[in-house]
Amino acid sequence: MSDPVHRRVVVKLSGEALTGRQGFGIEQEMVERLAGDLAAASRLGVELGVVVGGGNIFRGVEVSERGVPRPVGDTMGMLATVMNCLVLEAAIERAGVEARTLSALAMPSVCETYNRKRALKNLGKGRVVLLAAGTGNPFFTTDTTAVLRAAELEAHAVLKATNVDGVYTADPKKDPKASRYDRLSHQEAIEKDLRVMDGTAFALARENRMPIIIFSIADKNAIESVLRGKGRATTVG
Ligand code: UDP
Repeated sequence: MSDPVHRRVVVKLSGEALTGRQGFGIEQEMVERLAGDLAAASRLGVELGVVVGGGNIFRGVEVSERGVPRPVGDTMGMLATVMNCLVLEAAIERAGVEARTLSALAMPSVCETYNRKRALKNLGKGRVVLLAAGTGNPFFTTDTTAVLRAAELEAHAVLKATNVDGVYTADPKKDPKASRYDRLSHQEAIEKDLRVMDGTAFALARENRMPIIIFSIADKNAIESVLRGKGRATTVG
């Protein structure tokens, strides 16, 4: 087996990844599987930061459509990411790897507050670090958080888990001729207005020359394959 090609990465999991077949909330079976994948990736000796979304519970924009001020809705979204991180943290530890949730919003009776030094210290101890509560600010997404934390923590790449094994020239479900890009520049990703990540996340990645590897989480051990430089994926950067 080839050695991992990255030594420190930030993995971005959308909240949706935790819903499994339920379509909403948290499916424990899915959590266990993802935790197993993350634990296996950590055992390769790769330092893992994990940013988890909250869209399986609350998204600020959707909450605000019901009349709640947007910043309040966004806070609810950030709190949802904390719940997702806590359930993953417990499952990663059950899988035999130490994990720590660090939250961008201070909640000392729940978990430690994020700061860069604390995150680096935990990563250095081989713990999986779950980066909760996004950036701690409304009007941002957890995709942007993943790029921001990767830059702050001097990670080598962001591994963005999706339902598709990369970026295609067209929707592969609708167009049989659609082909997958192996590599795209950040500029191309921005110009093509790729929906796979928001514009702010791509712009921040371009500014910091941060590669984003887009891969499918559907296959078991997908994270490990990407870390070994194998598997189907598109690299932006
Ligand atoms: N959010 C926020 N600031 C951040 C990150 C997230 O306000 O820095 C809120 C926002 O309301 C967002 C929600 O948290 O809709 C959940 O995050 P996201 O939509 O990125 O989750 P995903 O789609 O990846 O599950």
